[in-house]
Amino acid sequence: MKVINKLVIANWKMNPQSKKEAEIIFKNIFNNLKNIKKTEVIICPPFPFLFVKGKVKTKNIKLGSQDVFYEKEGSYTGEVSASMLRDFSVEYVLVGHSERRAIGDTNEIVNKKILAILKSKMNPIFCVGESVRDTNGFYLSFIKQQIIEGLVNVNKPQVKNMVIAYEPIWAIGSSADREATPAEFTEIRIFIKKIITDLYDVKTANEVRIIYGGSVNPLNAESFIKEGRADGLLVGRDSLNPKKFSAIINLVK
Ligand code: PEP
Repeated sequence: MKVINKLVIANWKMNPQSKKEAEIIFKNIFNNLKNIKKTEVIICPPFPFLFVKGKVKTKNIKLGSQDVFYEKEGSYTGEVSASMLRDFSVEYVLVGHSERRAIGDTNEIVNKKILAILKSKMNPIFCVGESVRDTNGFYLSFIKQQIIEGLVNVNKPQVKNMVIAYEPIWAIGSSADREATPAEFTEIRIFIKKIITDLYDVKTANEVRIIYGGSVNPLNAESFIKEGRADGLLVGRDSLNPKKFSAIINLVK
């Protein structure tokens, strides 16, 4: 059976505000990670700071992007193509993040981006999640639709390289209602595996990495891995604090 390494992903969002700060954060994370062998750490800075990894020789830290445009090239002012990112040694791309969906990314756009990422031989980190947990369970059909529509024309070998991040919107950011519990994550992890099994097969469902994101911090990180059996974590705010982010990585290890 394929060994699946745990992932810890940093989503810096529109932070920090200078390249100097970006370099310092990256360097501090790198210095704290010298003994990490099996965990894959992925840093997703804003586009102008993708240079931070620079010439640092490390297999432990990979570069991720926070978004991509789906067209190959041409007159798309302000957009960045998948091949530009690949040329910058980007290996993972966040797609379908709720903050991008809130400003217009539909399931159809998310699908086009996933196909563009895969075509350029990068790995999509496909974010899904509901805004509210209603008592009738409509959130389950909402997530199912996000996954089915996001994976149109994605074939079996491609889907195995994907990471699916469950990020309930109500648990994300400083205005989060509350943290999710490992049990809530487990429910969705099993649900996503069932959807992937129905769309592809059980072997594929076992290989897709399903991770949790939403107010992850050093106090709750271990419980999502141990009790929730998450394949990794997507970290927002605490990924900008090298001490806290490194603590999270050590807990996952
Ligand atoms: C995110 O937005 O991807 C995220 C996980 O943010 P935070 O950790 O700040 O809730």
